[in-house]
Parts: sequence; structure tokens; C-alpha cells
Amino acid sequence: MPKILDGRLLAQRIKEDLKKEITLLKEKTGRVPHLVILMIGRDEGASAYANSQQKTAFEIGIQYELRTLPENILEGAVIDIIKELNRDTSVHGIMIHKPVPAAIHYRRAANYIDTAKDLEGINVTNIGKMIFGETTIIPCTPAAVMAHIKSIEIPIRGKDAVIVGRSEIVGKPLSLLLLQEEATVTICHRATSAANKLIDHIKRADILVAALGRPFFVKGEWIKEGAIVIDVGINQLDGKIVGDVEFTEAQKRAGYITPVPGGVGPVTVVMLMRNGIEAFKTQINNHNKF
Ligand code: NDP
Repeated sequence: MPKILDGRLLAQRIKEDLKKEITLLKEKTGRVPHLVILMIGRDEGASAYANSQQKTAFEIGIQYELRTLPENILEGAVIDIIKELNRDTSVHGIMIHKPVPAAIHYRRAANYIDTAKDLEGINVTNIGKMIFGETTIIPCTPAAVMAHIKSIEIPIRGKDAVIVGRSEIVGKPLSLLLLQEEATVTICHRATSAANKLIDHIKRADILVAALGRPFFVKGEWIKEGAIVIDVGINQLDGKIVGDVEFTEAQKRAGYITPVPGGVGPVTVVMLMRNGIEAFKTQINNHNKF
């Protein structure tokens, strides 16, 4: 297993598996998952992410529909569209791209997405089900982090896992996935830094996940010898995309490390498609269409 965890290669491997699954599902049901993605107004980052989603969906054989809604749309109108999509049995997965205009409360709107069609696994019911290990729809970035860690084929059980960042989309759900694998999990945040305890936590991490959104914040010398280092950060620095970890120095000490770009990012998009397939299977099963 090479030391640098190549996200593009891992994404390709998962895509091949998903393609096979789609072929089988198509044979059984005569259908493929149909995903509807809502984009409200225009945002360069969201458009780039949507392009990459569209390309990946096409490669796997998933029907991908991007609906662009006007910048000045009211929250009530967005919720009406979501309710309509919830009722539409030809639609299997729904998501809303972020950022949304200030007049729309993202979480309130996204919570209207039917739990079975919640492509990103971020509505309160799916997050709640994660606590019990009862959902197959997992937030995409944490799922991508887990896919990288599991690709190494080293037992996670009993390892000290330290996550820097406690956001609802990365750090918190990831902590549940690592706990499920019986790691001993520590989540660090600004107060950890303010208490001058961050470096000590990082130094004892067998598995370190950096998800702060601060370029090269985690210094190479803080990395435990042989640690698995997963860098979730995507930051612009001097016209380049860089991670949260000082990669050049960190790779000298790490056992395994993801680069940025080309690490977690490419796998995240594939995990969204995997969720689309899981959502499709749940709905087909619910309608006894097999
Ligand atoms: P948020 O801004 O929502 O959260 C950042 C977290 O980092 C917070 O919990 C914050 O602590 C913590 N933090 C910030 N500064 C420090 C510090 N000095 N010491 C300790 N903790 C700190 O970010 P996201 O989770 O949305 O994203 C994190 C990074 O991951 C970004 O670079 C983003 O672009 C990237 N990302 C990448 C994805 C991918 O697929 N590769 C997907 C999603 C995000 P506190 O809670 O106390 O404020």
C-alpha cells in the first residue's frame, strides 16, 4: 500500500463497483436512480461541485438532474418544490447545494427532504439514525474519510483517532463512524486550541483527521510517527488549493497521508452517488418493486 493515499484511484475503484451495482439494479427493476439537485442562485464553487457530480453520475449510469432556482426565490417556494419532489416516485434522491441566499434557512429547508431521499444524509432523522448505526445514507465527506482509512486495511479498533473540526457535515458525523469502528475518538475545536491542548492531542493521534479549513495549520512535526493522516481541508493559498496539513513535512512522519487536491475530495463525490444508490434501493424495497 503506497504511503500517499490517492483519492482519484480510490474513487475510480468505488465507481467501478457502483457501475456494476447499477447494471444489476437496472436488470432487476428496469430503472436507475434519479437524483434531483437544487441550486439556488449562482455560486462558482457550487457550480464546480455540480459539474463534477454530473460527470460522476454519468460515468456510473445514474440519472442526474440539476435544477437552478432564481436567487430571489422565497423559502416557502423552495419547500414546495421539495414536497413535490418527495411525492414524485420517479425521484430517488434530493439535495440542495450550498451556499444558499441569505433569505433562505438552509437547514430548515433541507429538513423537508424525505428521509429516504436525503442524498447527503444530513437531515435530523438520518443523523439520529447514525447514532444507532441504522442508516445506509451517510454524510459524504465522513464516508469518504472512512473509505480512505479502510482502504489501508489496518484495524481501526482501539486506535486513538483525533478529529480537528466539529462541523455538522464533517467532524461530528465522522466521530460517530469512527466510534462505530471502535476507535477512541477525540474531537478538537477552537476551545481546544485556546486551552493550548491541540498539539498534545494531535501528537498522540494514530488516526488524525484535519477538517478546520485553515491552510497548512497542522504542522508536520506534530504528527505521530506512522500515523494515518486524512486532510479534509480545501483552502485557497496563493492561487493554489491546499489542505489543512503541512503536507511536505507531515508525509515524512505519517504512515499514510492524503494529498490535497486529489485525496478526500474525489471520493466525496462518489459517496454522494453511493448514497443515491442506497436511497434508490430503500425506496424500491419500500414499494415492493423487486
Ligand atoms: P467549518 O468552518 O464548519 O468548521 C471548522 C471547524 O474547525 C470548527 O469546528 C472550528 O472550531 C474548527 N477550527 C477552526 N479553527 C481552529 C483552530 N485554530 N483550532 C482548532 N479548531 C479549529 O468547516 P467545514 O467542516 O465545513 O470544513 C472544514 C474544511 O473542510 C474546509 O477547508 C472545507 O473547505 C473542507 N471541506 C472539504 C470537503 C471535501 O469533500 N473534501 C467537504 C466539506 C468541507 P469551532 O467549532 O470551535 O469554531
